[in-house]
Amino acid sequence: MIRILKSGRSAEAKATDASAVRGTVESVLIDVEARGDVALRELSEKFDRWSPPSFRLSQDEIDVCIGALSCRQLDDIKFAQAQIRRFAEIQKAALKDVEVETLPGVVLGHRNIPMNSVGCYVPGGKYPLVASAHMGIVTAKVAGVKRVIAMTPPFQGKPAPAVIAAMALAGADEIYVLGGIQAVAAMAIGTETIAPVDFLVGPGNAYVAEAKRQLFGRVGIDLLAGPTETLVIADGTADAELCATDLLGQAEHGPNSPAILLTTSEQLATQTMDEVERLLGILPTASIAKQAWADFGQVIVCDTDEEMVSEADRIASEHVQVMTRDPDYFLHRMTNYGALFLGPRTNVAYGDKVIGTNHTLPTLGTARFTGGLWVGKFLKTCTYQKVLTDEASVMIGEYCSRLCVLEGFLGHAEQANVRLRRYGARNIPY
Ligand code: NAD
Repeated sequence: MIRILKSGRSAEAKATDASAVRGTVESVLIDVEARGDVALRELSEKFDRWSPPSFRLSQDEIDVCIGALSCRQLDDIKFAQAQIRRFAEIQKAALKDVEVETLPGVVLGHRNIPMNSVGCYVPGGKYPLVASAHMGIVTAKVAGVKRVIAMTPPFQGKPAPAVIAAMALAGADEIYVLGGIQAVAAMAIGTETIAPVDFLVGPGNAYVAEAKRQLFGRVGIDLLAGPTETLVIADGTADAELCATDLLGQAEHGPNSPAILLTTSEQLATQTMDEVERLLGILPTASIAKQAWADFGQVIVCDTDEEMVSEADRIASEHVQVMTRDPDYFLHRMTNYGALFLGPRTNVAYGDKVIGTNHTLPTLGTARFTGGLWVGKFLKTCTYQKVLTDEASVMIGEYCSRLCVLEGFLGHAEQANVRLRRYGARNIPY
């Protein structure tokens, strides 16, 4: 039986927030479509107080950002990018093109073709999210995308040097300092000065995620990677300080970031809630984390591991940290999550920043139908077929002709019939 020891805000309050965001996004997209660069400038001024001579950075401006970092900082960024590149290359190598003779003379295949142009959003309103540059740009380049453009908002009134340096080191072809809905709109719709892309990727706040959702169809999108969510699954063997730290480590992302503890131990639940209060007294980013914990924090107690699996699958959280006697039990049974962090020695921050898996992950329950960003998202799997012999064409053609007639598609049937006449000397009338 499931007991809720702490709950967040009501579903109705969350739905009201979502509807306000939808309205704002709709009007910004219409404005960018109608007025292009003029709208971008006004919107950037309005939402970010940012209106430089050009949103696109010159090579000199990029070099100044790189020069502002220490060797240690540049090496750290390069180390993280190397891990992400390595894992993406291994994942790409596992994605083989296919060509197979399924029947004598019938050859079917598929090719994995990279998108031609991609826009990577790198969030930066509250924190300069350096790591999102690696996740989008490095992975797109490993996939073989030719044109990769990257946008990020100004941070505290100017370009964030570490984000710009990471974008450049990752291999971005164009770098813009432009944020929020207007950035996503510029990449998807295009303006007089910005050529649109085919595919948009990257995390962001609720406005960014909603803009991507509304633009889907006009461009492709990776997934809805909105406000960060974390779920900690723990039993009586877990350490309450680790549980509390891992909850607040993600709650600090924003005031609407859910952090949930799911446990079979009521004692651990109580200890963790006490630890959360203690840490909120000393964490420098406590003001954001405190609000997130108050509004979106939850503590749920279950009777068994099996019950925790089904509750975790229902929640379908972006991040799931497992600290139980047997973490692999959850690896083999859970079906809905963005990424799993198994055992107390790893944690979400490792994955977010450096370990090599991608941190752009599904939120808002979308882990029910997608995993996170990875090299395969930048590839289109396109099929082809060849029929090598007259006999094969006639054999397939006979089935095809009858199946087309069954559906009333006589034009389709004739595509088969003409080949039966030509390659099989069958006199099938038009
Ligand atoms: P952001 O870059 O996503 O958004 C900042 C922009 O939002 C600003 O430039 C501004 O233009 C726009 N904006 C702010 N308030 C607005 C308003 N009222 N109306 C219209 N536009 C507005 O940066 P952020 O806000 O710091 O958010 C980053 C988000 O990314 C966090 O929620 C974090 O949890 C999330 N994130 C998610 C993942 C994931 O994979 N799901 C990974 C990393 C980060």
